[in-house]
Amino acid sequence: MKTNPNTAWNPDRLDMRAFAQAGAHLEADESLSVFERMHAEAVPTDAAPALVRWAAQGEMRAAASGGAPAAWLHVEADTHVPLTCQRCLGVVDVPLVVDRWFRFVADEAAAAAEDDDCEEDLLALEPRPNLRDVLEDELLMELPLVPMHETCPVQVPMQATDPQVGDAEAEVRKNPFASLARLKK
Ligand SMILES: [Zn+2]
Repeated sequence: MKTNPNTAWNPDRLDMRAFAQAGAHLEADESLSVFERMHAEAVPTDAAPALVRWAAQGEMRAAASGGAPAAWLHVEADTHVPLTCQRCLGVVDVPLVVDRWFRFVADEAAAAAEDDDCEEDLLALEPRPNLRDVLEDELLMELPLVPMHETCPVQVPMQATDPQVGDAEAEVRKNPFASLARLKK
């Protein structure tokens, strides 16, 4: 049990029943580029892709109805993603946080059948879930519909785009008599 916990489980096809029975834990810091669908949402920037810090914890819990205990999974993830601000069209770095529990049922059919009757989120034990897909689905759901700066960075005044006009105006403002002095020469 004291071997490196991250090598004992395959997050791509997680044996969720065993993971929950062992009360196992997985965690990693991985580049956002590992999560391709999320990465596609990000605005390309010069900066390296952000890290996604994630953790998964398995747990067996007795059913409220007294039935067989069920496998539960707690997933947490923390990252930030550069998106386009819909107000100033600049890049806004949006923090994303996931903190969610899932209860596992036998398969997709059981999940579909039970889904309407329960409040918790359900996933299927078979086919074995890909943990990163589960995490990525949750991250995608956290994306804001309309990304926006809380306060957009101050806009550069338009006249400054023409440096000559800008300089001349600034000169006049600084010393209104400067141009007069030049005329006198
Ligand atoms: Zn903005």
